[in-house]
Amino acid sequence: MIEDKNQQRTQLSDLGEFGLIDHLTKNFKIKHESTVKSIGDDAAVLDFKNKKIVVTTDLLVEGVHFDLSYMPLKHLGYKSVVVNLSDVYAMNAKATQITVSIAVSNRFPLEALEDLYGGIETAAKVYNIDVVGGDTTSSTTGLLISVTAIGEVDNNKEVYRNGAKPNDLLVVTGDLGGAYMGLQVLEREKEVYKVNPNSQPDLEPYSYIVERQLKPEARKDVIKLLEDLNVKPTSMIDISDGLSSEIIHLCTQSKVGCDLYENKIPLDPQIISVCEEFNLDSTTVALGGGEDYELLFTISQDDYSKIKANPNLTVIGYIREEQSGLHLVTRADTKIPIKAQGWKNFNA
Ligand code: ADP
Ligand code: MG
Repeated sequence: MIEDKNQQRTQLSDLGEFGLIDHLTKNFKIKHESTVKSIGDDAAVLDFKNKKIVVTTDLLVEGVHFDLSYMPLKHLGYKSVVVNLSDVYAMNAKATQITVSIAVSNRFPLEALEDLYGGIETAAKVYNIDVVGGDTTSSTTGLLISVTAIGEVDNNKEVYRNGAKPNDLLVVTGDLGGAYMGLQVLEREKEVYKVNPNSQPDLEPYSYIVERQLKPEARKDVIKLLEDLNVKPTSMIDISDGLSSEIIHLCTQSKVGCDLYENKIPLDPQIISVCEEFNLDSTTVALGGGEDYELLFTISQDDYSKIKANPNLTVIGYIREEQSGLHLVTRADTKIPIKAQGWKNFNA
């Protein structure tokens, strides 16, 4: 939140485009046999032999997707990779390579881009992926980052959104609503800082949810876990826009309905207490709040015994026939329709 006035500021124009690319990417190490040619030629060359390839891309725009007043550039680099990997894992695939494209204005010194690429490098290490290319250009306004992620999956192991069947179990990983509540805390502290720039925010009581917002993780571990348990989900999606929106996507594409049980939605105790503090209903936050990057998937009931003991996986409902619709079964045991409500609408 506080800018260090003594920080070194090297103008990007001092390096030139090629010097900059080289400077930012020189530490990247190749980890995968499938990476035949990485940064440095006109295009990367990848060889996946007989595997299926998945490709996904995301564009992040300053002022729309991130706010640099509380988002450190290192975290932004990390997060911009993670959000893409999450989409690869949601196909039940293994992420192997990314490309990173940036548009920057001369407002950013080299040191800022070093921080951004430090975060990208950390994510590449943690998730074991190769950075194989990108593009660098100037922007007259803010910062733009686009990451494309590539992954591999054995034939017939890929999982789509459209495979859910009536009576399947609806399962979610981790807990929900944290990233949204973390954002609420950060937005509140930003307002306090505007009024009194000397105030030092105490974010300690909010550490879990703030981390969920600033440094989310993708569920690579869950893809490995499902493989180890010998469970292939019938359908899967990652939760970037909030549980209700993702459930609607899964059910619409699968042509099924569902019953989601309010009392089963996994919530961290910190989320519950901060929701109370902000006077928000924790179920509404879990349903509408975005950016948790957990996985939502369905499994056949035959696979229940394989997953039931795992603390990372929570069964939150059942898939129904299409004509029965999509419902939330509340704690009071009433059924209310699940409405489309992406977290961006929810925010407004
Ligand atoms: P071209 O002019 O053919 O687009 P560039 O000069 O933009 O080539 O890129 C040269 C090499 O550097 C390519 O391998 C490209 O993928 C890589 N590259 C360019 N920008 C970035 C970046 N921001 N991050 C990672 N690799 C990059
Ligand atoms: Mg280029």
